[in-house]
Amino acid sequence: MTTFPGRILALSVPAAALLLAAGSGAADAQVRRNEQERPPSMTIERYDPVSMLVVPQTPIARARFPFVDVHGHQNLAASDSVLSALVRQMDSIGMRTMVNLSGGSGERLAAQVRNARAKYPGRFVVFANVDFSRINEPNFGRDAAAQLERDVREGGAAGLKIFKNLGMDTYWADGSRVRTDDPRLAPIWEKAGDLGIPVLIHTAEPAAFFEPLDEHNERYLELWMFPGRARPADKYPPFDSLMAEQHRMFKRHAQTKFISAHLSWLGQDLGRLGRALDSIPNMYVEVAAALYEIGRQPRAGREFFERYQDRILMGKDTFGGPEEFAVYFRIFETNDEYFPWYRKRHAFWGMYGLGLSDEVLRKVYCGNAERIVPGVSCG
Ligand SMILES: [Zn+2]
Repeated sequence: MTTFPGRILALSVPAAALLLAAGSGAADAQVRRNEQERPPSMTIERYDPVSMLVVPQTPIARARFPFVDVHGHQNLAASDSVLSALVRQMDSIGMRTMVNLSGGSGERLAAQVRNARAKYPGRFVVFANVDFSRINEPNFGRDAAAQLERDVREGGAAGLKIFKNLGMDTYWADGSRVRTDDPRLAPIWEKAGDLGIPVLIHTAEPAAFFEPLDEHNERYLELWMFPGRARPADKYPPFDSLMAEQHRMFKRHAQTKFISAHLSWLGQDLGRLGRALDSIPNMYVEVAAALYEIGRQPRAGREFFERYQDRILMGKDTFGGPEEFAVYFRIFETNDEYFPWYRKRHAFWGMYGLGLSDEVLRKVYCGNAERIVPGVSCG
């Protein structure tokens, strides 16, 4: 290799070969520039950086106190082997009771309640659903309320779950969108209050799904993977309108307890969520598939959990397995820093533990559900 005093060589060599001293005297010393080929570009779905941060790790495989998952979807009329495997997994993570939100109605619901009560008493409760495909039948609201009453009194339903099609994808015969606060639906909400059952309702989607789909969109990866999740402004009402409709409806039916699913999709704006909870005493939230918002703001998140400790419930949505639940436990219970969420498309950012007190944990894990969902006991 030839070197030239006074010149810096541009070399394309491995880093280990650098810093060779040339000649014998200091005047001959060479500093070589490390020039490398640019690595190949890669797509955002492939880019998956592993943090180099070395900090204490506190994996939590099992919740500190028995908990209720108020946001589950399981067919409780499934075979014995399927159900017993599920219960074993529930046992391993400390889940005392799962709420199955996909109960349906009529015999389908009743069969699930019977099966679960016979085989695993205390481990499951079932929420009924309203069939919005019948929205344009005369007296829909009253009929749906009557069906709900039968589902609770005869079928054994412990609550009502409303899916996100209400508000976003359900239309009246005249082509107008069915709004969550439409007075024609009022009999359903009133009936739930009369029956003393909560309504768990999913309205809208993460706010980013309503934003322009460009390089600034925080959920671009997910919307690239699942284009059908986008809620473009030419087809959907704005996020704020959907949430306003939901919260207005809650206020109008003050005797009914509402659990707004996924932190009411306001986990990214806890000030706003707090104001909603302050002005709507019959409103609760659960954290399913939205806790990643809390996990990136541990100080504000902890304060929020302290302040609204009687209004927040544990939920997970897609069961996913013990490793996914472990991320929830770790956010609630530890002071760990910058650990990954279990789905990059939901959160490419690191999570931080809130280090919640035992008092708050007991309420979020079980006490609040015991208070508002019939058939749930923290015993
Ligand atoms: Zn769900």
